[in-house]
Amino acid sequence: MKTIAIANQKGGCGKTTTAMNLAAALAKRGNKVLIIDLDPQAHSTLGLGHDPDELGKTVYDALTNVQVAITRVIISTKIERLSLAPSSILLSGVEFELATVHGREFVLNQQLSSINSNYDIGVIDCPPSLGLLTLNALSASSDIIIPVQTHYYALEGLRQLLETIEIVRERFNHDLKILGVLLTLVDSRTTLSRQIQRQMREFFGDLVFDTVIHRTVRLAEAPSAGESILTYAPESKGAVEYRSLAEEISDGKAQARDT
Ligand code: ADP
Ligand code: MG
Repeated sequence: MKTIAIANQKGGCGKTTTAMNLAAALAKRGNKVLIIDLDPQAHSTLGLGHDPDELGKTVYDALTNVQVAITRVIISTKIERLSLAPSSILLSGVEFELATVHGREFVLNQQLSSINSNYDIGVIDCPPSLGLLTLNALSASSDIIIPVQTHYYALEGLRQLLETIEIVRERFNHDLKILGVLLTLVDSRTTLSRQIQRQMREFFGDLVFDTVIHRTVRLAEAPSAGESILTYAPESKGAVEYRSLAEEISDGKAQARDT
């Protein structure tokens, strides 16, 4: 299983939108995909049509109780080949609950290694922080995608994220690669957005995916219908763009890099 963490500690930069729709697009291409919702806000769980309050066990149980195998929390979605390890608000207490546990950064890694051969691709929707949940995600992943909203403060906070990736590589996961930086919420009509796109490509070079995700109403609407864009509006610009991202990743056009 290739496991891709969608991470950036900044809220509202398109992590959940990317996790859900990329996972759906990869499943539509024929991959067996598991999306793991690590955000206590459970937006990708909700966005895929599940109500966290009505679920039995969630990824919280798999992280805090070694007796609960992750296979017991995984549920299906409306999309064929796409399974979900759902979130719960209880995840917000994990940092505290695991504070004294030895190897607490590796709990997710251990759970996922037991199902390594069941899926082709894992996609982890990270919370908006660089705390223990994100460390678990990065320790368990082969790759990271960094969604970046193209606005004035786009570069702010990225240094801290890159430092965290460096620490994770040194201490927990030597093999972690940045698969790419994804420009999101792009509004090509504004000069500012174009300037920032150019600035990001100057700064990150080849690391920036060719595919960019534009701001579109359909992408914002889909989660309220409990659907990914691939089923909600399959011909929309957002669906085309997330399919293109999935293609870029599958074709290896996006070569994983070390920096
Ligand atoms: P994060 O998970 O990083 O906090 P989200 O993916 O939840 O970010 O996006 C934040 C908000 O912006 C959500 O309301 C989402 O529906 C909306 N959004 C994200 N990407 C787009 C897009 N490309 N076009 C329009 N709305 C978007
Ligand atoms: Mg989110």
